[in-house]
Amino acid sequence: MIAGRTQQISPFLAMEVLEAAQEIDPTGTEVIHLEVGEPDFPTPEPIKDAALRAIRENRTRYTHSMGLLPLREAIAEHFHRTYGVSIAPDQILVTAGTSPALLLICLALCEPGDEVILTDPCYACYPNFVRVAGAQPVFVPIYEEEGFQLTAEAVRRHLTPRTKAILINSPANPTGTLLSPEHMAALAELGPIVISDEIYHGLVYEGQEHSILEFTDRAFVLNGFSKAYAMTGWRLGYVVGPRSAMRALQTLHQNFFISANEFVQWAAVAALRGCQEYQIQMRDTFNARRRFLIPELRRLGFGVATEPTGAFYVLANARRFTTRSYEFAMEVLREAKVGVTPGVDFGQNGEGYIRFSYANSLERIQQALERLEDFLRRTGRIS
Ligand code: PMP
Repeated sequence: MIAGRTQQISPFLAMEVLEAAQEIDPTGTEVIHLEVGEPDFPTPEPIKDAALRAIRENRTRYTHSMGLLPLREAIAEHFHRTYGVSIAPDQILVTAGTSPALLLICLALCEPGDEVILTDPCYACYPNFVRVAGAQPVFVPIYEEEGFQLTAEAVRRHLTPRTKAILINSPANPTGTLLSPEHMAALAELGPIVISDEIYHGLVYEGQEHSILEFTDRAFVLNGFSKAYAMTGWRLGYVVGPRSAMRALQTLHQNFFISANEFVQWAAVAALRGCQEYQIQMRDTFNARRRFLIPELRRLGFGVATEPTGAFYVLANARRFTTRSYEFAMEVLREAKVGVTPGVDFGQNGEGYIRFSYANSLERIQQALERLEDFLRRTGRIS
């Protein structure tokens, strides 16, 4: 009954751990969640106020399929202010999250049999977006000893006449590392279109994030409000692309999604125009957790060769404890009541790693580490 295409789509293991945690702990009080990829902060007040105002003013309709013009203007201003890049509102399509934006790009770009370059490890859902569009993911391994950098030389070895695009993500999920501007510039020169998922911009603790549009305009940028504005459940994102591609994306969007939610778009205008202090506060809080978590993980025997400087993840080498990260994560969940994400969720090269998310309070992170230490001792993994 179910089409074969779904069989190519692998389960999202982070969600499987979360769902297993919910079975063990139906009230949600016992398990400490370090597996989830969503900020633990409430959405900033000015954003909520703007949404409520919009609802009261009956701004609850379909909008232009590209998105409200004031929002697209605010996004264009944001690009100018943050990266010194000029884009026009007609290069922006607003979607119900970064995920639909990526789906539309894959559908618009890929012919059956095309190839899209991904890193291994990478965000677990990427290969599935590529596959559902009929294309093949081609994985380029990245290594902790090399700062998880995707180099142009490594990509060049994987290019074929069918390579359609290179998908990058900086700061990255699951590694938390930033691509250097030199690497971004070199990747942009290889030839295939670059799709740059910039969803973790605004959550950078050392160094500076760069948009791919600083280096080339043969690129698509994906971004959204989920992470930097603590708006995961609001579902809002966008794609910035070359003018020549926007009509095709718009046509797909009109047919399959009509438009993004109107009052959420008004809330996003408030996010871009009036939330800087909230953002700084969230970023500083994440940073304090990061600075606490990394040395603690090392003390327990996990390897962190390259310190993550963005997003809210540490991809820790757990090979001293396990070569089977999924079984290990499930054991940690059952025995220590701590949810963590198995590295294998992010690719074969992530096997033997565990991703810790620090989107939880310092107090809970501290408690989780105590439980983990106790678990490692009890199971004879540390003495
Ligand atoms: N890209 C990356 C790298 C992510 O980590 C996530 C969320 N986990 C997404 C995209 C999806 O974001 P959204 O909520 O905007 O659909």
